[in-house]
Amino acid sequence: MVLRKLGFKTNLEVEGKAVTIPKVEMERCDNCEETFLTPAGSRYVDDWLDEKSETITTEELQKFLIQYQLTQKQAAEILKIGEKNFSRWLNGRQRVSASMSNYIRTLTAVPEAFETLRKKQWKSPAAFPAEHRQPR
Ligand SMILES: [Zn+2]
Repeated sequence: MVLRKLGFKTNLEVEGKAVTIPKVEMERCDNCEETFLTPAGSRYVDDWLDEKSETITTEELQKFLIQYQLTQKQAAEILKIGEKNFSRWLNGRQRVSASMSNYIRTLTAVPEAFETLRKKQWKSPAAFPAEHRQPR
């Protein structure tokens, strides 16, 4: 048996799309050349698929912008991210973390939460004076 890092083809359950996961540890049989996932390779595939299924889609990002009539710049201010991050997400050039994905989904699902965030304009410490940080 030879250990190799190979592309592993599988289907995304949610979208039913075929994907190839790069650099998965596999064993190749010397006789028949069949390949098998190693235990480490198998864990890697599971983690990769988990991550993939939790990451927000381009469609969901668009929906967030449209629903609240936001420019990408405004969305970036509200989410406290870099100005160019949102466009990188939309272009698929940068991956959205699972926690940020869930945060945006929550804001999309709960307009009241989003409006609270927008009204407070938590842009700078000056816009949110220390006395307002105390519980009432
Ligand atoms: Zn074999």
